[in-house]
Amino acid sequence: MEIARPQGNPAVNAEVENSKPVSLSGLHKDLPSTLEVRQGKDTGRGLYARDRLVVGSILFATRPHVSVLSTPQLESYCSYCCSAAPSQGLKRCTRCRKIWYCNATCQNADWAEHKHECSALQRWQANAPSPDLSIPSDAIRCLGRILWGIQRTGLDSIWTREFSGMQSHRSSLPPSAFESHTHLAHSVVRYLGISSPAELAPFGLASAGDLVDLISRFTTNTFTLTSPSLTPVGICISPTMALVNHSCEPNVVMVFPHTPNALSSQEPLMHLIVIREISPGDQVFVSYVDTSVPRDLRQKELKETYNFVCHCSLCIRQTEVDPRTAMSCPKSCGGICPLPTEENDVTQCVKCKAVVTSAGAVLDAVRVGNEGLQKAISLQVKDPAKAKQLTSNLIPIITSAGLTPSAHPLLAMTRLHLELLLSAIATSISQDVLDEAIRTSAKYNEGLSNVLPYGHPVRAIAVAELGKLLAVDEPSPRHISSLDESTQFTQPAQSQSTPSGPTRLKLALETLIRAREELNIAFGKGTGGGLAGKEVREGIVRLESEIGQWTRGIRNAIEDARAAGKIAK
Ligand SMILES: [Zn+2]
Ligand SMILES: [Zn+2]
Ligand SMILES: [Zn+2]
Ligand SMILES: [Zn+2]
Repeated sequence: MEIARPQGNPAVNAEVENSKPVSLSGLHKDLPSTLEVRQGKDTGRGLYARDRLVVGSILFATRPHVSVLSTPQLESYCSYCCSAAPSQGLKRCTRCRKIWYCNATCQNADWAEHKHECSALQRWQANAPSPDLSIPSDAIRCLGRILWGIQRTGLDSIWTREFSGMQSHRSSLPPSAFESHTHLAHSVVRYLGISSPAELAPFGLASAGDLVDLISRFTTNTFTLTSPSLTPVGICISPTMALVNHSCEPNVVMVFPHTPNALSSQEPLMHLIVIREISPGDQVFVSYVDTSVPRDLRQKELKETYNFVCHCSLCIRQTEVDPRTAMSCPKSCGGICPLPTEENDVTQCVKCKAVVTSAGAVLDAVRVGNEGLQKAISLQVKDPAKAKQLTSNLIPIITSAGLTPSAHPLLAMTRLHLELLLSAIATSISQDVLDEAIRTSAKYNEGLSNVLPYGHPVRAIAVAELGKLLAVDEPSPRHISSLDESTQFTQPAQSQSTPSGPTRLKLALETLIRAREELNIAFGKGTGGGLAGKEVREGIVRLESEIGQWTRGIRNAIEDARAAGKIAK
């Protein structure tokens, strides 16, 4: 993984001229002929397109070298194919009692990788000081699988050579990172059951320093393993995917669609999908960070985790207002203003030039919002009710300060509030909470549409989520409106009410149809939008039949009334 350079401008092709193709010497056979690896003069290695690539196309798909679930997900997903537990539940490894599988097929397929891990997990558990420390972290388990993989395939195997070829930033890492890597190395040694440096040799490591080096390479090249609806479920390593450099305005995304007809032996299949059109010679970029947050937060995370300063197209662009740091015009002319900052509290509407006189109050609201967001995130799992109370109190404060739905921290707070409402709905559903979830989801979608491109997976999943919420049976509908009654719902600035009855179903259908189109891009046209796309298509079929029943019901009622002479013919 390397430093991003601007894309989509003439400088890019100059970059191609300044770079030369890299010989892969038999490695990365999973790369398609549409892509090549080039080495820039001062930009490092990267993947470049040979052909024109259209939005929604799958560049390639590959199974990561290693993937592990995070500890809280071990009982909910299969440790081999990483699919969610089937309806009949998962089967547990009877030896270590920590790892779960779909069935015997997945368990057998994983045995070569799990064999050593199984004994290590038992040993770790036997020595654990307390039950909540009875399983090592996902990073330790992932490193274990990498080292046993090196031992199993051999030091000269393609598997090991691809892994060793990944770039590390060890030489330029801050001392704090070096310390945490050393700490991790101690845990890994304990997990492997190694008692002397000589025992590191079968793993291709000559010294403890080599292990720290491997850990640094691991840290800068780890990807988040996600469910088909983007829930983070673990981590994985793919040396071929690690060739893709970073941009905060990426033209490709990495997703795990879990294509309904794929073989479980191929899963988890990591897909690289085009979300912005690519021309021949363009470099292919993915984002290593959340691109919906402002530049300073992205730069901070990139520096801390990957140790580089991003000079991507988004980071260098001079725009009047970034929707990630924007507030509405104080005169409500429909224009927006840049948020005031500590350094510069003079700001005005870009459209009518009205000056924001409440800059101090806006700065306070942003600060309170940021602190509240951190607090609510830390409470999300431990005390969701308290977290929800916090987000419920803060959202009106930040909104009334004038922040737009896409501005930080309002967008992140809205997302968190929605997650909290969704988990509340999962246990008990009431009309009020359902309606609030729908309004919150609509706000979240409005914010996202200003910061992420059409067809971005996060956006596509958010639209699908809204469609599903609208399609939920109302516990106590307020009123029944006719099918063609228009609704103010799509203009969120207006009323607080959500539509009900057939109007709601019709809106649900429209939303799911929009979700189907965005999912088709986000998870690849070739996968039909993956598992998320399949669910949405099924939802559309159900709704169409439900709306059909409503319409038939109304038509029959009218005909009955006519027959009874109550309505003029
Ligand atoms: Zn499985
Ligand atoms: Zn086991
Ligand atoms: Zn950037
Ligand atoms: Zn204005």
